[in-house]
Amino acid sequence: MHILSKSTYIKGLQCEKALYMTKKHPYLRDKLSIEQRAIFKRGSDVGILAQQRYPGGINMSPTYPTQFPKKVQETMQNLDDPEVKVMYEAVFQYNDTLIMVDILVRDGDRWRAIEVKSSLRLSPTYYYDAALQYYVLHGCGIPLSDFQLMHLNGEFVKDGPIDVEKLFKLTSVMDFAKEKEPEIAANVERLKNVVALPHSPLVNIGTQCHSPYTCDFLGHCWKYVPKNSFLFTTAMPDETLFQYYFGGYGSNKLMLEQLDPNSEEAKQVEALENGTYYIDYKSLFALAPNPKPRHVAYLNVLSDFPAVPELDGMRPYQEMILAFVVTGDNEPDGHSHWHCFDDHRRSAEALTLMKERLSHYDQVVCFMPMNHNLGSKVINLYGTLLDAHFYHPKIKNGINLQNIAEALFHDVNLFEHSRILVEANENELTSYKQAINDLLTENEVIKRTYQHFFN
Ligand code: SF4
Repeated sequence: MHILSKSTYIKGLQCEKALYMTKKHPYLRDKLSIEQRAIFKRGSDVGILAQQRYPGGINMSPTYPTQFPKKVQETMQNLDDPEVKVMYEAVFQYNDTLIMVDILVRDGDRWRAIEVKSSLRLSPTYYYDAALQYYVLHGCGIPLSDFQLMHLNGEFVKDGPIDVEKLFKLTSVMDFAKEKEPEIAANVERLKNVVALPHSPLVNIGTQCHSPYTCDFLGHCWKYVPKNSFLFTTAMPDETLFQYYFGGYGSNKLMLEQLDPNSEEAKQVEALENGTYYIDYKSLFALAPNPKPRHVAYLNVLSDFPAVPELDGMRPYQEMILAFVVTGDNEPDGHSHWHCFDDHRRSAEALTLMKERLSHYDQVVCFMPMNHNLGSKVINLYGTLLDAHFYHPKIKNGINLQNIAEALFHDVNLFEHSRILVEANENELTSYKQAINDLLTENEVIKRTYQHFFN
């Protein structure tokens, strides 16, 4: 059996302890978040579509991990079979490192390897990921004509059935992978030694815990860090925070002695100590609506951003409105106005209806970067709170309605949009009425947040 795979290799580059724990103590992992599940699902949907660009391939993907050795053998046999022109998920192993190549296409007497990405842009991690695969393929003696990354084309506009030739872009990473081969070889040796250790390597928590990915052993490694530690502040770079933390200033009290009491850094640490939040009221009041609006609408929208466009005229990841709610004092009969669409094709209709309802108000309050032109009367609380330096330990990884509710109110239990969408997609929660209920609850948080700061 193999020791490393693409994912464990990348994990090991981020943190040797994370690699060791994954191999030896996987049960200590944190549970996958709803957002992570959504990203995995999106990746596999795009991968299947990408295969259509090279149709008729043999799928080498094993049903169970125990089948990997058999699939390695079968892949090698297929390479020698001139009838096999394309393989999906071809399995290779070299120097105890196992990889699966998304698409392998026969190219004369050589092969072209293609790694599929569901993103619009290519990150450095993707290049290193490809370099590892090249290292294994080269080690197995596979003659390659090219190694390419295949990713979504942001310029693609759907017009009829999806044209997979135009939906994807191909970028060669062969030169990069060749250049990095000695570095990859050294990394593989180092990480194999880590896995062979009799105990977990001693690695302190640090900036690597969240970069480039949020590690799934945070619950284990951070269990002794107090929930109100200054490590959760956002006013200083993480490098600086960890220097203080391991430099003899581990507590908030000691940290405060190092900081200018009027600085934002100190205000955040004080907020942590007092179990409250911080906001720069001067900046906040400068953002207050002036004059005070007579009729305020609170708007909440449930959107989807499909990687592969579903409607003609749309691009990858373009927003589609699934539902919206408007609450305010100008609604018919004083009731909340809401619309819910169980068909994505009605997104344009939803936008028209939403604009019509909002025309009855002189102020619209929402919590999202608004991609739709609703005029200058919109207050986006998300941007407003960011501009006013709003801080609460829960927002360390970004502000959302859930952590705002936790910071300001203690009687609200929120689901987030992403949760609704994923659950609806998985048929765990098929009722869009449930989505509306959640949108209404969220809208109540939007309203209370606005009134909390501006009334
Ligand atoms: S939480 Fe941090 S220290 Fe622990 S395994 Fe993950 S990256 Fe390494």
